[in-house]
Amino acid sequence: MVKELQLRILPEQAASEQNIRKYVSQEHGISEKEINCVRVLKRSIDARQRTIYVNLKVEVFVNEQPADDGYQHTEYQNVEGRPQAVVVGAGPGGLFAALRLIELGIRPVVIERGKNVHERRRDIAQISRTHMVDPESNFSFGEGGAGAFSDGKLYTRSKKRGNVEKILNVFCQHGASTAILSDAHPHLGTDRLPAIIENMRNTIIQCGGEVRFQTKMTSLLMKDNRVTGVVAQCADGSEVELNGEGVIIATGHSARDVYKYMYAHGIEIEAKDIAVGVRLEHPSQLIDQIQYHRREGRGEYLPAAEYSYVTQVEGRGVYSFCMCPGGTVVPAASGPRQIVVNGMSNAARNSPWSNSGMVVELHTEDLDEDSLKSLAPVPDEEIHGGPLRMMEFQQRLEYAAWLQGNMRQTAPAQRMAHFVNGKGSYDLPKSSYTPGLISTPIHFWMPRFIASRLQQGFKNFGRTAHGFLTNEAVLIGVETRTSAPVRIPRDHDTLQHIRLEGLFPCGEGAGYAGGIVSAAVDGERCAEMLKEYVVK
Ligand SMILES: Cc1cc2nc3c(=O)[nH]c(=O)nc-3n(C[C@H](O)[C@H](O)[C@H](O)COP(=O)(O)OP(=O)(O)OC[C@H]3O[C@@H](n4cnc5c(N)ncnc54)[C@H](O)[C@@H]3O)c2cc1C
Repeated sequence: MVKELQLRILPEQAASEQNIRKYVSQEHGISEKEINCVRVLKRSIDARQRTIYVNLKVEVFVNEQPADDGYQHTEYQNVEGRPQAVVVGAGPGGLFAALRLIELGIRPVVIERGKNVHERRRDIAQISRTHMVDPESNFSFGEGGAGAFSDGKLYTRSKKRGNVEKILNVFCQHGASTAILSDAHPHLGTDRLPAIIENMRNTIIQCGGEVRFQTKMTSLLMKDNRVTGVVAQCADGSEVELNGEGVIIATGHSARDVYKYMYAHGIEIEAKDIAVGVRLEHPSQLIDQIQYHRREGRGEYLPAAEYSYVTQVEGRGVYSFCMCPGGTVVPAASGPRQIVVNGMSNAARNSPWSNSGMVVELHTEDLDEDSLKSLAPVPDEEIHGGPLRMMEFQQRLEYAAWLQGNMRQTAPAQRMAHFVNGKGSYDLPKSSYTPGLISTPIHFWMPRFIASRLQQGFKNFGRTAHGFLTNEAVLIGVETRTSAPVRIPRDHDTLQHIRLEGLFPCGEGAGYAGGIVSAAVDGERCAEMLKEYVVK
């Protein structure tokens, strides 16, 4: 017999399957010996009151064993000798597109400019040691894309639950814990992601697909108005032509050369709204105290607390973004003369800090000549404006941060209350950011239309959450890559580029996703539309 139960229990009672089993046995009169398995179907924390509860929906297997592994398997077929498609980029968008192509009987050839996920880990570690960023292997580029060394949060605002569940199940099939299927806010952690990504690559190869690392798309192959493949540069500098029935381009928001190539070759692209600001890091103990309303913080059984804040200041949204409870702030630049920060965490989320992006919306119409002039141009970088203007603004802000950081990966920083009150910080708190921090008056050099909104936004958040606005917290600059600064326009139904047949702009870089899961969902949709295009 399988019983489905709704439980509202204390964190310690929900801490392990053993504890849940004990509780169910006592409260529902089932002998513990008869319970073979308790499977959690839904888990959320209710921290609205002083007593914190965990809400669980569970399946209790009484005198019966579960018939499956707790997730839905996807069948991947052998695609050797089948029609071929090129997938550019091995981030979540590209990887999930390739896996879906295999399901649909199309052979994917995935090209990725960066290295495999293990070699990439070494290059990322070097950034803190040498302050040098390899422009082809960093937090944005390499197998797994921007999602590989991340917090691995897997929740999305997408309303299409079916699509999201499919993505989570594919993650489970490749080694993720089935807890991601039941948690209200599932996450994987950067210590778990590389193995999962490697398993996905192995599926692609075992089914007859191809994955080529250090192979960078430099141009598209076209016949009339139809894209028939790509030209790519290999690690040794040689060029290779790869042909396909269609091309899925999932190159992420940091592939500025791809946007520039499209602009230079008259391939239609558009400027897109972005959001920019800083990372804000607090001691995680403080965030736990605020969010769980308890002096003792999270205690032994609760996870590091999350928060999410949003407010409006002078007509623009100011909000927290990509919160990493118990995480670290990382140097996420993708090239020289930039400082870009982001956040990641391990599965256990047990660092002594919690951080989030704190960003201000920037609409395309906000960037006039004057707002651009508030930041120095990057030397030797051509200025194009037009559809590239938001990207060029990002570049200038990242360059300003790099100058403030003494032209190293040392990040400009300021204590939070000092920033709000327009004062410099003589010293800085300890931080998780390993390349080091340098105290600078961010309120002074960051463009006014961002800094003043952040200052007001922090005051508003401080009123909502007592203790949040504090000098124990530090701002670390700059957070610029919250989304793509360019959209590659595509037909709403066919998902092909509005002017080029056979080109499927995909994922975050094309402007159709804003996170791991939404990029993966978009990858699957592009694969499905490519299949329809091939069949016609
Ligand atoms: C540190 C960090 C933490 C993050 N944390 C989270 C999180 O917790 N949850 C979440 O949902 N999102 C998170 N994100 C955002 C998330 O990673 C992205 O939204 C997601 O990866 C976008 O997927 P994508 O496939 O569209 O693009 P990307 O992941 O950016 O992948 C693009 C790939 O294309 C490759 N590429 C680029 N140009 C070329 C070329 N010319 N030829 C060949 N290959 C090319 C790149 O090397 C890259 O691997 C985080 C991002 C970072 C940087």
